[in-house]
Amino acid sequence: MTLDLLAIAAHPDDVEQTCGGTLIKMAEAGYRTGVLDLTAGDMGTRGTPEQRVAESEIAAREMLAAWRGNMHFPDARLQNDLSARMTLAMKIRELKPRVVILPYWEARHPDHYRAGELAYEACFLAGLAKLDEYSEPHRPYKVIYSSLYANVTPSFVVDISGQFERRMAALLSYRSQYGESREGAELFPQEQEIRERLGAVARYYGNLVGAKYGEPFVVKETLRVDDVVSMGVRSF
Ligand SMILES: [Zn+2]
Repeated sequence: MTLDLLAIAAHPDDVEQTCGGTLIKMAEAGYRTGVLDLTAGDMGTRGTPEQRVAESEIAAREMLAAWRGNMHFPDARLQNDLSARMTLAMKIRELKPRVVILPYWEARHPDHYRAGELAYEACFLAGLAKLDEYSEPHRPYKVIYSSLYANVTPSFVVDISGQFERRMAALLSYRSQYGESREGAELFPQEQEIRERLGAVARYYGNLVGAKYGEPFVVKETLRVDDVVSMGVRSF
């Protein structure tokens, strides 16, 4: 398996809210995309881990992903330890992604920032020739951080105006989380509320680049521009 783009996230339904539009857009452009969730959400109030993984597979089809998997690491207490890093590094060698999307390194939920740190270190380890003699070394060319949950200025925004509805449909595949239900009703906003909230956030980021809907990303490296005459996003 060789993926062009792999999004790694802490929980099933994270990518549907942070970078799903970009995944869809890249799949539409012909790239092989994938999603690797680190936990199955076993500490969630609603549904079972089995339900969430099954729903995540439906969501993956909606997002046109070529592959989706789950590491089944412990939810809400995700650890960046040697065993987790090694297991993840072996998975990265198997999937050989060229570009990886990770959660931004600061977040409210510990699993989110820990997932970013753990996956970054696993990407590095995966490139070490002597890590394991039975698999080929592979290090992703680029790491980009999905910064939707963080209050930071993005390095760039992807226009997802054409993908927003499909991303919304992918998120609503998680019926155990977002379906109409009494249990935990105060914790989980209903469909209209989710649509408005995600719409407002995507409109905000889209507005920064003159698009209707957008998804924000941060990169640690400086972005290079080769042609300043054809740069996008107008100044006036
Ligand atoms: Zn999450």
